[in-house]
Amino acid sequence: MKAARSRSRRPQAWTNIAKERIGILVSLAEKEAKRHPERTKRYVDLARRIGMRYNVRLDKGTRIRICKECSSFLIPGYNCTVRTRSDKQSLVVTCNKCGSVKRYPYSKEKKA
Ligand SMILES: [Zn+2]
Repeated sequence: MKAARSRSRRPQAWTNIAKERIGILVSLAEKEAKRHPERTKRYVDLARRIGMRYNVRLDKGTRIRICKECSSFLIPGYNCTVRTRSDKQSLVVTCNKCGSVKRYPYSKEKKA
């Protein structure tokens, strides 16, 4: 009956599973973003919830592509506008759905 051990300590395996799930959800969101915006929102919400629950942060590349306000998966030229401000070294991402604007500094970003 008393299966619960320490509540505060979470095994590393959980974190890894959480990361894996988030990865799957994000790739699903990416795939379905154009065809099923509503479904995509749910994937994004789920991914964020898992991240919060297991204290896993979405990686930088993923965070940039998710609208914080409306959970849309942002695709440049489709539902968001991306501009670079070279003077301020930042990316300006505007969500075309809810109009929220986010700035991301890109001091030393590497692209694979
Ligand atoms: Zn939005």
